[in-house]
Amino acid sequence: MDLHAMHFPYHPFVLPFTIGLVFVFFYIVGKWIYWISRLGKDDRFKILKNIFTLKTPQAIYEVFMECLLHRKVFKKNALLGYMHMSLALGWFLLIILGNLETRYFTHGRINPPYFPIFFEFFEHDLISLNYGRFFTVAMDFLLLFILTGVGLAYFKRFKSKPLGMQRTTKHVPIDRWALTALWLIFPLRLFAQGVTAGLYDAGSFLTNPVGNLLASFLPIHYLYYPSWWAYSFALGSFFVLLPFSRYMHIPTEILLIFLRKYGVAEKNIHSTYTKVELSSCSRCGICIDACQLGSDLGIVSTQSTYFIKSLRYDKPSDLLIDSCMVCKRCDQVCPVGIDIASIRANERKELHLFDENSYKYINGYRYKSAKIAYFAGCMGHLTPSVYKATLALFDKAGVDYNFIDKDGSICCGRPLQLTGQEDAAMQLIEKNIKLIENCGATVLVTSCPICAKVFNDSYNLKIPIYHHSQYLLKLAKEQKLTFNKTDIKITYHDPCELGRGLGVYEEPRELLKLAGNLIESSNSRENSLCCGGSLGITNISQEQRHTIATITLDELSANKADIVATACPLCKKTFKSASENTMIADISEIMLDSINDRGIKHNPKTVSKEVVKSININR
Ligand code: SF4
Ligand code: SF4
Ligand code: SF4
Repeated sequence: MDLHAMHFPYHPFVLPFTIGLVFVFFYIVGKWIYWISRLGKDDRFKILKNIFTLKTPQAIYEVFMECLLHRKVFKKNALLGYMHMSLALGWFLLIILGNLETRYFTHGRINPPYFPIFFEFFEHDLISLNYGRFFTVAMDFLLLFILTGVGLAYFKRFKSKPLGMQRTTKHVPIDRWALTALWLIFPLRLFAQGVTAGLYDAGSFLTNPVGNLLASFLPIHYLYYPSWWAYSFALGSFFVLLPFSRYMHIPTEILLIFLRKYGVAEKNIHSTYTKVELSSCSRCGICIDACQLGSDLGIVSTQSTYFIKSLRYDKPSDLLIDSCMVCKRCDQVCPVGIDIASIRANERKELHLFDENSYKYINGYRYKSAKIAYFAGCMGHLTPSVYKATLALFDKAGVDYNFIDKDGSICCGRPLQLTGQEDAAMQLIEKNIKLIENCGATVLVTSCPICAKVFNDSYNLKIPIYHHSQYLLKLAKEQKLTFNKTDIKITYHDPCELGRGLGVYEEPRELLKLAGNLIESSNSRENSLCCGGSLGITNISQEQRHTIATITLDELSANKADIVATACPLCKKTFKSASENTMIADISEIMLDSINDRGIKHNPKTVSKEVVKSININR
């Protein structure tokens, strides 16, 4: 048969599909154009600057890895990853192969979009054509691949634990309708193809047996047209519902990946980029399990997915906005990479805890000049043993430093940022920048990861910024500090802001290895638990903070280390208030102790006691 010579075959049942497809295509293109055109000038410039660079193929690669293969979901749970992959990759390949099939059999003719989708309806005699068997087998295989994913998706709605999820999200009505349409598409395709195969023996290893089975108990010649109508209706309904349901994440995630690659990021005010991020949330619910407010305190209605859902459709309640420690564990696990913490911080703009007079005192300041500007931060001042140990090490290394917030006067600006007062924070930051620049320092060192993050992200300083763990390691590498390694077993807690916030995981470990034996806890590095002391949350009680700290500390001390090392003054303070027997020390205190070797290297138990004693002296 020469399909090339045929006019385009047509049947009215293709209309629901075609109308849905046209609608969703123009809706998505229109939305993308709208979002991009409403981005700030600088963001549009970034896109133009980067579009013809390597960033574009890198974005395409990421789209392939995340949107089709779902690599990050695979990392969370293989079965969950397979479920997402089979639906996304399977459907994508089915479309590609369907198009190749029709192009091949019509000798390269450009066909209407419905033709590849309903090809089996229009063409029953492929087997007799060249490569006909190949195409029918491959199409059956892809259909089976997708159906296994649909099966897992049904299963997940009733039992989500085997797919690695403690909890899943509830659907709003439009999600439910879209989900129903989606779940019907592929079983209906199997049914329509099965009926066709039963009538014409036109299928392969999947559709032929299904067709024979259906023919054994159903009058399939009556079902031929209704089955194709039903399949077309399911597709059309899904397309029409997609933009208003969570499935809008499918096209939007692609846009998000490109924008992110080109350097567009969440700012201190919502933009259309925020809208892109919100629409990219698939409500997969992976962020729910990561949140310690849920696992430790049983608060299970304020996690990021609920916050995002509420912000996408309406305005989140104060409870949703405030209930977050900004620990970024959810950011870390989110397969889409949404900057949820920043979106929440922007939503906190309504709360005004500070006014313009709060930081007036800063005007009269001047620093004496020194090579190193050391900043303890307000948390550092609440835990003086940390800055004392750090400065003692500086003295031993002969560092020329200036303790710029010695009298505890300057704030880095984080509290203002956390409460959404970006203008006030910017004024404070501008003043701080001048003070630091005027003292002629060539390096800024801080003990507080929170301050380090703020200096890094919000200050345009021309000098490098180090957390003290990084700077002490640098001094050790330059042989300005030498340490005595003992048998002591140390477990290290990655503070949220230093680890997930700044990506500093190696240096504290390298440094601690100079003092003792490092043993990892089960949730370290990117998965590190929060201490619960976060300044980002104001609506949990002291007892609730204590619960989080106790659970985190239990996990940290489960490996029977002699010391739990921290690198954040707030973490140290929080853990200390929750610890009964566990020894907690800042990395600077451990290093100071190891430099003051007291000849107690051989018995870990003795070491522990001595170290406690020495650390207590420093406190
Ligand atoms: S925020 Fe991320 S992890 Fe949470 S539901 Fe949305 S996509 Fe999933
Ligand atoms: S940032 Fe931390 S506390 Fe806030 S929602 Fe995410 S996981 Fe929970
Ligand atoms: S104090 Fe440490 S663990 Fe706690 S929230 Fe801050 S960085 Fe995270």
